[in-house]
Amino acid sequence: MKFDIITIFPHIFDAYFSESIVRRAQKNNQVEIKVHNLRDWTEDKHKTVDDTPYGGGVGMVLKIEPIYKCVEFIKNNYNSKFKGQNSKLKSSLRERTILFSAKGKRYVQADAKRLLKYDNLILICGRYEGVDERVAKYVADEEISIGDYVLTGGEIPAMVLVDSTTRLIPGVLGNAQSPVSESHNQEGYLEHPQYTKPEEFMQWKVPEVLLGGNHKEIEEWRKAKSKFKNKK
Ligand code: SAM
Repeated sequence: MKFDIITIFPHIFDAYFSESIVRRAQKNNQVEIKVHNLRDWTEDKHKTVDDTPYGGGVGMVLKIEPIYKCVEFIKNNYNSKFKGQNSKLKSSLRERTILFSAKGKRYVQADAKRLLKYDNLILICGRYEGVDERVAKYVADEEISIGDYVLTGGEIPAMVLVDSTTRLIPGVLGNAQSPVSESHNQEGYLEHPQYTKPEEFMQWKVPEVLLGGNHKEIEEWRKAKSKFKNKK
């Protein structure tokens, strides 16, 4: 799976993507992440990516031209990798362009699963007052919000999307960390509480049932605890 992220702050991603599971997934060629600097797709010497809003108002709006050019470049470049291969394979390549927006559809675990079917996800990070609406209408396939609050830019949402989809790719987590039993794998399901050593800390004890080694009882306790949380 390939992620192409379009941003005016490309270095924001350096630390997060060079650690832990996302780093390992890249090393193992399970994912490829390319960060594109939107300013590289401007024509003027000041590398202008924004302008004032039509109709007046505060702030600046990201322009459509550099975003359009960058998305087209990514699409052509990715497809050209498969030059010489049969047209059936080329036409079966699936890509999806996503614009991050506080007005978008709320992102949930089911979306992380749904997006796994694409070979290439192109992620557009907005900034300032947002992005020229024609990007949502003509360039992006969907608009995603990661919650009902306003962030300064789409870069944190892009990290959220890359992380949450990458960990679902078969083989990325390994058996020990299987996503199958995790919270939200089924709608409304929340995982049971987890404990580790020591058995007692500041007189706060680990539930007795987890210490006894009776797997059936432990399983029942875990089921009950996950159901209990669901009802809250
Ligand atoms: N003026 C916009 C509004 O009221 O909806 C907010 C713009 S916000 C300051 C700048 C950019 O951050 C947005 O274009 C979007 O890309 C990103 N962003 C902010 N909040 C977001 C959220 N909850 N989910 C996804 N992206 C968000």
